Amino acid sequence: MSIASNLERVQNQIAEACARAHRDPSTVALMAVSKMHPAEAVREAYEAGQRLFGENRVQEWQTKRAELSDLFALPPSGSSQSTRSPSPAAQAHLIGPLQNNKTAKAAEIFDAIDTLGSLKTAERLNAAAQSLSKTLRILIEVKLSPEDTKHGLAPEDLPALLRALQPLTHLQPRGLMTVPPFDENPETARPYFQHLRHLRDEHLTLYPTLTDLSMGMSNDFAVAIEEGSTTVRIGTAIFGKRTYA
Ligand SMILES: *Cc1c(COP(=O)(O)O)cnc(C)c1O
Repeated sequence: MSIASNLERVQNQIAEACARAHRDPSTVALMAVSKMHPAEAVREAYEAGQRLFGENRVQEWQTKRAELSDLFALPPSGSSQSTRSPSPAAQAHLIGPLQNNKTAKAAEIFDAIDTLGSLKTAERLNAAAQSLSKTLRILIEVKLSPEDTKHGLAPEDLPALLRALQPLTHLQPRGLMTVPPFDENPETARPYFQHLRHLRDEHLTLYPTLTDLSMGMSNDFAVAIEEGSTTVRIGTAIFGKRTYA
């Protein structure tokens, strides 16, 4: 199966899930998760029309992005991101954990950080974005299950973080993200998706830009769409199995 036909199949499945949930398919963005796949795979997806990409590691994306600079245009230096030309530029979001020593590089090579989990990281990202004269869109990653392998902020710490983000004017909070524990059965993820949506709804009055819900992966995105996802993050169903080196 080619990347183009995989993308088409996934788009159709998203449309079917939207129809079942009585949602407009234009309210669900497809993020192609290209981690552990080469730059050529990203280019192939781009040529098939894909513009939104997710990567897990700063170092890996730095290497791949260097081969894709014609697709992922940097904003002209000294101008704000809003003045950059819109399409056909692709966008890359960081969807993996962000280490403190990588915040400056992440602010430079990503259009958005979808895994913000602490005020300390937010302050570093804001300073880095400021010195790059850019505004970074961010999602707050919320940890809804106890495993050590999961990252993010505890739900009860969300109000304090949202308040503390307000003076950080180079960050633009856009919503919430979560990764539920993996289970073969997609129904197991449903309560986590519902929980994230409720958290978003609780804060929407005070923070009206907090609209995005990044939730759902290859095996559970249909359930995530039923529960209100606005961005599904799909790797395997588009690029095939990853080879863990
Ligand atoms: C790898 C990854 C994905 C994509 O997972 P698939 O099961 O391959 O679709 C989505 N989100 C995050 C945070 C990931 O690390």
